[in-house]
Formats: sequence, structure tokens, C-alpha cells
Amino acid sequence: MLNLESGLRCLKGIGRKREQAFAKLGIRTIEDILTFFPSRYQDRTKIVSIKNAYKQSQSCCIFGKVGKVYERIFTKGLCLLDIEVFDNTCMTHVRFFRKRRMYSSTDIFASVKRIFKSGVFAYIYGEVKIKSNDSFMLVNDYEIVEKDSDVPLFFNKIVPIYATTKKMSQTYIRVCIHDVLRAYFYNYPDVSELLPVCNWILKMSAPIALKKIHYPDSLKDAENARRSFALQEFFVLESALYLLRNKFKKNLKEQKYEIKYDLLKRLEQNLKFEFTSDQQKAIKDIFTDMQSEYPMNRILIGDVGCGKTVVALSAMLLAIENGYQAMIIAPSEILAEQHYRTILNLLSGVSVKIALLTSSSLKKRGKRKIILEGLESNNIQIAIGTHALVEDRIKFASLSFIVIDEQHKFGVMQKSALLKKASYPDVLVMSATPIPRALSMIMYGEMDVTTIKQLPPGRIPVITYVLDEIDAYQKTIEELKNGNQVYIVYPLIDDSEELDLKSVLQESRILSQTWFRNFKVGLFHGQLKSAKKDEILTKFKSKEIDVLISTTIIEVGIDVPNATVMIIQHVERFGLAQLHQLRGRIGRSNKQSYLYLIQKSKGESADKRVKIIESTNDGFEIAEADLKMRGPGELMGIIQHGFSKFKAGDIIKDEDIIEYAKSCAKKIIDDDPTLSKEKNFVLKKLVSKRFCDKRDFTNVC
Ligand code: ADP
Ligand code: MG
Repeated sequence: MLNLESGLRCLKGIGRKREQAFAKLGIRTIEDILTFFPSRYQDRTKIVSIKNAYKQSQSCCIFGKVGKVYERIFTKGLCLLDIEVFDNTCMTHVRFFRKRRMYSSTDIFASVKRIFKSGVFAYIYGEVKIKSNDSFMLVNDYEIVEKDSDVPLFFNKIVPIYATTKKMSQTYIRVCIHDVLRAYFYNYPDVSELLPVCNWILKMSAPIALKKIHYPDSLKDAENARRSFALQEFFVLESALYLLRNKFKKNLKEQKYEIKYDLLKRLEQNLKFEFTSDQQKAIKDIFTDMQSEYPMNRILIGDVGCGKTVVALSAMLLAIENGYQAMIIAPSEILAEQHYRTILNLLSGVSVKIALLTSSSLKKRGKRKIILEGLESNNIQIAIGTHALVEDRIKFASLSFIVIDEQHKFGVMQKSALLKKASYPDVLVMSATPIPRALSMIMYGEMDVTTIKQLPPGRIPVITYVLDEIDAYQKTIEELKNGNQVYIVYPLIDDSEELDLKSVLQESRILSQTWFRNFKVGLFHGQLKSAKKDEILTKFKSKEIDVLISTTIIEVGIDVPNATVMIIQHVERFGLAQLHQLRGRIGRSNKQSYLYLIQKSKGESADKRVKIIESTNDGFEIAEADLKMRGPGELMGIIQHGFSKFKAGDIIKDEDIIEYAKSCAKKIIDDDPTLSKEKNFVLKKLVSKRFCDKRDFTNVC
């Protein structure tokens, strides 16, 4: 007995070649065929009379009786087959063109002639061509029936059009999907019974939705079916994510925090500003989590510069004033050092012991010993570092609070190794990558999400211009003369691209001898030794370097408020998110900052990206636009969990459905946290089938 997981070879007519052709389309099983949805539809509901077909300006459908067949061969092997088709209004020739290989004697129209026998009836979809001495209907698709009362499969209805490859004709794939659909659709697992009725999304069982997505009664019907099917997809996903949340939440933690306000007050006194209301809300969320009996598992999403560090620090101080240790891990030495300096600064005069743990800071044996012992004896209260923190030899006396900055830069293994340094620690993840809500509900569905949207008051938005090189350099020199500093960024996608690096090296030499010869120019890229990197950054900070020519390595973490200009070369080679991150390096003081974009080559997508960057500074808006431009396919690649692509769901259009699916999933899992009730059997099976082999999801169900 075949089931949905059966491979295609079990189907009649599918051998190795066809199997391979299907595999090219990502189709391997019967289930894949069922959910290989049309990329668009063709409306063949209307059949026009042949007489009226001649009045149509577009392709249309006709129906008539087949008469005589004429064949003609032109030079260069072009062959033409005209077939008479008539109804009671008129007669037309429907025409096929084929090309015959030179010297070949095979009859390339043999199959067509076999089907179009005189006296049978034909449905034709095609376009009427009227020339002065010749008029005909060019055939796009056809179907033959024996009697005029026979019901056609692919006419008189809205017909699906599938994405296909050269190796497989539209007709073949359509027939194949049609047959599999008819035989197997009712086997498709359905969880619609678990979803409450709601007035804005049509409730449909999965099998019915499947059928209607392929063969809808109207385009509206197709969209309704798609949404119903998408709801089930998202519902299963959100259920899996809730189970994953519960996995973190089911253990009672040992640490208890009481808001004593000694250290927190000292921090507040040190700050030269008030928290924004988003920051206050974030702190409130985090403190509430910390005081719960279960470990915190929250992500704080906020654009560069929105002030996440003080929020995280407040939480770390709450841990510390209750006698625990806290750590913050960053994806690079530069970032870790930055956090270290910032936090030292924010806590100046406050007696909290802080250590920096990076591979360089741990190199010297004496220093290393002090740090390691300090952590094991609770002498050091805050550990700030890189992946060096993950090492086995790093042990804590009473770690209870972990901050992970830019978690997507860490592997899952690293994260779980970190969590082992404490028993059920509270975890705060931070991300400076703004993402639309729908996406955060999927990407971070297993965490609680807090978003900071406001930037601290008084920030002057960066002004962005597209300029040619000379204008950009002239304007930049004005800024330099006013004592400000400058970044010039070249696209270097990864460090192995030697060619690009050469261009950065070369350009920096030229620029330092021409435009910027009266200023100090520094060079910064990923292949420099880490000591050299430090040296250059320190010099840039202390203004011994005025112009820093760099690759995108400066994208994260560098904080030099006096830098007020950034020139981005070859802007067409950068993605939206990257441009936004780069722009975050400037506009960090009370002076006006400028971003100059130099575009070397045009292109539809590049032009669009540049327009967006020019028109807004809002990271969430940019993320939304990015999402729309990339489309859902490419987008799934960004999602870390390795979920397979949604079949009907569309993260861009379906935010409302995702939200609803999430609330439905919550209800079900709150009521049945292990999905053991009989009514949840199908859901449990789907969750385990789709997610349990994914790394994070093992043992959730
Ligand atoms: P993020 O880590 O979110 O990119 P930071 O925490 O580095 O941002 O904060 C950016 C800058 O804004 C820092 O110099 C910080 O001191 C400052 N800052 C943070 N919160 C406020 C606030 N409420 N008002 C004014 N400045 C703030
Ligand atoms: Mg930061």
C-alpha cells in the first residue's frame, strides 16, 4: 500500500529519468506532488465560439469537431501542422509548429496526428493570428474527447500552471499531479478540527484545501484554500515552537532575585540619560521573567544604537546584587572589548568586578590564572567575552544570568555548551537585526520576544545621498576639515576574496596620496592580525587616523561617535540589511552625519535597494522591504532552524494567519502540554514528522 512518504518510482509511468526530473523540482514523494502548488492559474472557464475567437485579443478556448489535417515543411526543418476544427459558427485551422532535425526521417507530428483523428472533438487553448493571406489559431494546449458530451479534465475550469523544467512538459506534470491528487488527497493529514471557527479565515479540511488549491472554482476560492492550508502549516509549526518553549520552561530554577536596588541605583546615577519607554518596558519584561520560577528565555530585538546594552546591564546587576554572576558573550573580540569598555565606564565607581575573556586576554598565564580563579570563587561578577567563554576550563561559582549578543553568529552547540555552565540559567538573547513581526514569530517562536523600536531622544538621523565619487570626496573633505572622521567601505564579501582585497589595498594607497593626502588614512580588513586590528581601531578612536578605509568588517560594534561620514563604494553589491548595519556606525553623536553611496553599476534590484536606504532610517521598515524583495523562498534560508519551505504559507502576506496560528497553538498546548490526548494525535504526529529531526527540536515530543 502506498502512502504519502512513498517515493515516485512506485507510481505508474515514473522511471529513473522522470524521477530525476521531478527531483530537480524538489519533488521526491507522493506528498511532495500533492503539495507542489501551481505558480499561477489559467482561466479556461469560458469556451468561446470559433467565430468569436477571431474577435479576441488574447488567448482563449474553443471547442469543435476535428476535420482534415494538412502538413507542410519549410526550409531549415520548420514544420507546420494545420488541423481543421469547426463548430456551428465557423471553422478554423489550429496550428502546431515543430522543428525537425536535419536529415531526420522521423515523423515529428506522429503523436499529434494519432490523437487528432477526424471526427473526434477537441478543446483548444490558443491564440488567434490573423494575417492577410493566412489566419489560424496557434495551439498552446489541447485536450481531445471522443464525444461532444464528454467532460474534459483541463478545460471548462480554472487550470493550474506549474513551475517546471525543460525535461518535463506542463501537460505531463499537470496530468501527473491531477492523477496523484485524485488518488491520494484524502490521505493528507488534517488538523482543522483543532482550530476554532473564526470569521475571517475559511475553515477547510487539509484534503479539501489541497484539492482546491490545484483546482479552484475561482481565483478567490484558490486564495481561500491557500490561506486555510497555510493556517494548518503555521499551526503545526507554532505548536512545535510552543513545545520547544515548554522544554525550557519545565525546569524550576534555583536562583531567586529580589530587587534590592543597591547596584541598580548606582547605575542610574551614572547614566547621563533617562531610559526610553521601550527600554523601561524591556527591563520590566526581563525582571518579570527573572522573578518567575522558570528560567528566562527571551530575545531583545532592537536596532543598532537603541540602547540594548544598558538594558542587559540592568538585568545583570539585578543578578549580581543577589549574589550571582552574569556573563555576556559577543561574536567577536572587537565587540567583546567594546562591551567591556562600555560596561566598565557605566559602572565606574561601582564596586563590581568585571573580567574580559577573549583568546588574547587569556593568553598570558598569570592573567589567565587570576581570571579563572576569580570566576570559580565568585570574585569576578561579570564575565564579558567571546566564544572563549565556552571552553571547558571556564567555570563559574554561581552563574545565573547569560546574555548572548547576536545569537545568530553562534552555533547551536556553542549555545548549549554555554547553558551548561549554570543550572537552568536565565538567558537573554540580543539581536540588532530588526525583523518584521511575522518573521520573529517564526524565527524566535521558542522565545519570548521584546522589541525596542524607539531610538534614544536627541539622535540626529543620518542623511543619505547617492553621489558620484568626486562629489562624495569633496563633501567628505569639508567634514574632515571640521575635525570629523570618515569611514570608506569597500565590498569584501568574505576574507578569501583576494581580488577584492587587492582593490581595497590599491584604492587606499591612491586615496591617501590624492584626495586625502592631507589627512591620516588607515586600512582595516579581516586579514589583519588581531593585534594590528586593535592598534588601528585604537588609533581611529583617538583620532590618530582620520579616514578609515575598510571592508564590511566594521559592520558591527565599532563605536566612534566622532565619525560622521561614511562612503560606501559599489553600493550595488550590498544587501539592504548590511547597508543598514553599516549606516549604524555613524550618527552616534549630536552632530549631523552623512552617508554617501557610490553606485558603480545599475540594475533593477540595486536601484531599488539604494532608493529604500535613501528614503528611510527605520530598521524595521528596511527589514520589511528586504523581506518583500527577497521573497519567501530565499527568505527561508535566513531562518536558522532549517525549517523546510512553507508549501502554501507566505511569511510576507500571512502575518495575520501566523498570529492566529500561534494563539491556537498556545491554547492546545496549554491544555495538553505533551500532546497525549487522543484528539491531538494527528497534530503530534505532524509535529514529530516535520520537526523532531531538527537539532533544537529533539525530545520535544
Ligand atoms: P545597541 O547595543 O542597542 O546598539 P547601545 O546600548 O550601544 O545600543 O547604545 C547606543 C548608545 O546610546 C550608547 O552610547 C548608550 O549610552 C546610549 N543610550 C542608551 N540608552 C539611552 C537613552 N535612553 N538616552 C540616551 N542615550 C542612550
Ligand atoms: Mg550593541
